Amino acid sequence: MIEIDRVTKIFTGRGAPFKALDDVSVTIRENEFFTLLGPSGCGKTTLLRVIAGFEAPTKGQVTLEGKDLVALPPHKRPVNTVFQSYALFPHMTVAQNIGFGLEMQDRPKAEVKKTVDEMLDLVRMTEMADRKTSEISGGQQQRVALARALAPRPRVLLLDEPLSALDFKLRKDMQIELKRLQSETGITFIFVTHDQEEALTMSDRIAVMNAGEIRQIGGPRDIYDHPAERFVADFIGDTNFLTVDLEAVEGEGATVRFASGEALQVRAPESGATTGKVTLAIRPEHASLTAPEGAVLRGVLENIVYFGTDTHYHITLDAGDRFVLREQNQPDQTQARSIGDAVGVHVPVSVGQVLRD
Ligand code: ATP
Repeated sequence: MIEIDRVTKIFTGRGAPFKALDDVSVTIRENEFFTLLGPSGCGKTTLLRVIAGFEAPTKGQVTLEGKDLVALPPHKRPVNTVFQSYALFPHMTVAQNIGFGLEMQDRPKAEVKKTVDEMLDLVRMTEMADRKTSEISGGQQQRVALARALAPRPRVLLLDEPLSALDFKLRKDMQIELKRLQSETGITFIFVTHDQEEALTMSDRIAVMNAGEIRQIGGPRDIYDHPAERFVADFIGDTNFLTVDLEAVEGEGATVRFASGEALQVRAPESGATTGKVTLAIRPEHASLTAPEGAVLRGVLENIVYFGTDTHYHITLDAGDRFVLREQNQPDQTQARSIGDAVGVHVPVSVGQVLRD
């Protein structure tokens, strides 16, 4: 639906020119909850602003259903934005805020009222319609900002860290609420966040960005289970990185050999697999503790940290690497391990992922 084709953005302010987007290409599908995820300063907001029309790309194309967007000013694009600061009008009521965009478009009064009522219902704010927005909570303001942006029925809604001002509990609730709003309205959402958990729970697909580039695009499970490179594996979730010998690649699988001499079948990288020393990524919850004899990894238990739902085991491997392993707790389970124990790490076949260089 939206095609971003080789977009580069170079800011030329007072200082040295700065490349905020470097040859970014991505296609966003209709009705999709698409997330731009990455650390602060990686260019997420800049890409959103290019789509909205607040910034012109230095190079490259942005099209919506094949039509050029770059030539259109922001207000002529079928796109609306929800900002981090909700930017509501404090002297107006909730209903007036929601109807504001429609009034500006000179829509008939009856139509404005009908849409405002629908939007109030959609964000569950009907009871608060006549309150001033200065007299409602942060979470409620967030809903009004969403309703106001959805009211003109844009084809695409851009959301720039819209939940970051909310406290933890409200944020969790709003994550579910946002996902519901997206599927009920069928509007394409492009969502910006630096919070990996937020991205994993809400998105249909995620683009992971770093230093102005998209490093990987995929569904949440894809990205989490099969990160392509170290940056992605490190940014999303916790990961153990081990240097191993890549002995053979057969299709999607690969054989690696650990320093212990044991071999294991794992996932090959999508491209660029060469034999020799490579980095293998293993998620803490994908491995389990076992006896040292015959295990692919062996070491000494350095620390045991209880987290309620699970326990983290910190191990120093014989080869000197650190390895963290996570096991789910059962009710009334007794701790069978002690610090200083010699332990083995069991890694199920195909769980490890060889990373691209
Ligand atoms: P955050 O999560 O902190 O908002 P971001 O990924 O959204 O980060 P951007 O706001 O897109 O990052 O900024 C990307 C880079 O471009 C940053 O290094 C920023 O300093 C720089 N930048 C943004 N706007 C301008 C500008 N108008 N002039 C010069 N540099 C800019």
